[in-house]
Amino acid sequence: MLFLLLNLSGCTLLGQYLLAPSEKNVNYTAKYSECIEFYKELDDKSKQVNMLEAGPSDVGLPIQLVIIDKNGFKNPEKIRKSNRCIVWINNGIHPGEPEGIDASMLWARDLISKKEFQSILDNVSFIIVPVYNVGGSLRRNQYSRANQNGPEEYGFRGNRNNLDLNRDFIKQDSRNSETFAIQFQKWKPDVFIDTHTTDGADYQYNMSLLPGMRSKLPKSIGNYLYDIMLPELYQSMNEEQDEMVPYVEFDGRPEDGMYAFNDKARFGSGYAALFHCIPLVIEAHMLKPFNIRLQSTYRLLKVISNHVNKNSKQILVNKKNAITASRMSKKYDCQWIRDLSRVKMLEFKGYESGNTFYQELHDSIHFYNRDKPTNIIVPYYEHYKPTNQIRIPTKYIIPQCYHQVISNLKRNGVEMSYLKQDTFIESQYYKINSYKTVNHAYENHYLHYSTGCEETFIRYPFYKGDVIVSTDQESILYLAEVLEPQAEDSFFNWNFFDGILMRKEYFSDFAFAEKAEILLRTDTQLRKKFKEFVASSKGKPSIGDKLDFIYKNSGYSEPYLNVYPVARIF
Ligand SMILES: [Zn+2]
Repeated sequence: MLFLLLNLSGCTLLGQYLLAPSEKNVNYTAKYSECIEFYKELDDKSKQVNMLEAGPSDVGLPIQLVIIDKNGFKNPEKIRKSNRCIVWINNGIHPGEPEGIDASMLWARDLISKKEFQSILDNVSFIIVPVYNVGGSLRRNQYSRANQNGPEEYGFRGNRNNLDLNRDFIKQDSRNSETFAIQFQKWKPDVFIDTHTTDGADYQYNMSLLPGMRSKLPKSIGNYLYDIMLPELYQSMNEEQDEMVPYVEFDGRPEDGMYAFNDKARFGSGYAALFHCIPLVIEAHMLKPFNIRLQSTYRLLKVISNHVNKNSKQILVNKKNAITASRMSKKYDCQWIRDLSRVKMLEFKGYESGNTFYQELHDSIHFYNRDKPTNIIVPYYEHYKPTNQIRIPTKYIIPQCYHQVISNLKRNGVEMSYLKQDTFIESQYYKINSYKTVNHAYENHYLHYSTGCEETFIRYPFYKGDVIVSTDQESILYLAEVLEPQAEDSFFNWNFFDGILMRKEYFSDFAFAEKAEILLRTDTQLRKKFKEFVASSKGKPSIGDKLDFIYKNSGYSEPYLNVYPVARIF
């Protein structure tokens, strides 16, 4: 409540008359319609606010973008010419975690109406997505966040297709992701903030922060983020009496060690990192009351905005340098694992844990005792390391039959040209020689992982209209992540190339035996290989095994089976 009074005291008329629903009832999050109505009024009353329809969501209603700019500019070229940083605030990707939706409404209003914030707009323009998962926000309920402390009702995590949109940034199965990618590429934000609520353990902090992983970010951005920006954000939150902690994962109890989160490219933050943008995921703590989480989210938005305002020039220079470095880089790191050799000690304000017995359950379970706060030093594993490094080719050539891949590349800002005639391209390709697949459907796919490749030099047919992609372009990190099969979020792993993994023709044993006999008589190489095969087999191989071996090692076998059909030109 103190927060409300503070807000009103410094407000101009605009702010006084425009109260958000969360200010009338502190345990209430705005409905989609109320949220859009609120921004419409801001747009009507202020030249600095423009709400645009960005494109469709998966329920027909549009995704909106609220542009806040000092001069009321609503096109990215004009804003970039004015040398302002663009900060993108994404809300409601998980509409059950709604405090960002409401905090952003207050932040937008206060930015344009409170004198103390006006100078922020000198160097920063904002793009606020009021609600990203529109379909999920319409599925309002009181139960889907079983552990969360309010609000009284909220949206649902999945979209209308029951997809988690925060796993959809690479495969882009939803209309929402398509709209997002088109707008993200148009605006090219410098800072990307995604607002969430945590799950997991209990501790004293209201807010945790998940920045893009240092080792995955281009150096100029990673160094700046970790050496300058993050220390200042933590310090500023301290000064606001709202101490914040890094977003961490536990295997057991916090005291046993905590780990940073591997923000893969499928997540919004991982996607933003591929485009030289500073990614920040802000996670308010689910067990704090809704209005406390909202206030904490508001404070952090303010603190980040102040920082970007003061450092806008440096952030723009870092981004430019990062793009240059990425374009020159010849290597791409992938297949990341926790680096357990690098540990630092982190102060952690938690609660003592105990055991409690439940009568009706007739069982006991551990709990966090809020009457007994603790302040402990715990091992914190902040780093991940790549287990694979890929040589980046100068060009990729992609058959046009992979039209979904090509549409995705286009939507994500990749520049391309086209083959002018049919040809064979003799080049380096990958043969997929190992991969694993998840056992259950995962976000509309049967995702592959631990993919292994061997390089092979072959001739492969291409046709007029097939796509040439140079790697000397701004989207190079994205290109490598999606086109290199071994990268965790490659299009191969997301099943876009599964057709290459199945044999299409077979043979009948009785009919092939005569051909096999002739082959063994006439092809001395094959005869030698066959003898070795028989000698090395455990026991006597069956006639079927023998014919299969001969088939696979003869001209009858399918030459492009398991060959990843994207040419890599060096
Ligand atoms: Zn979330």
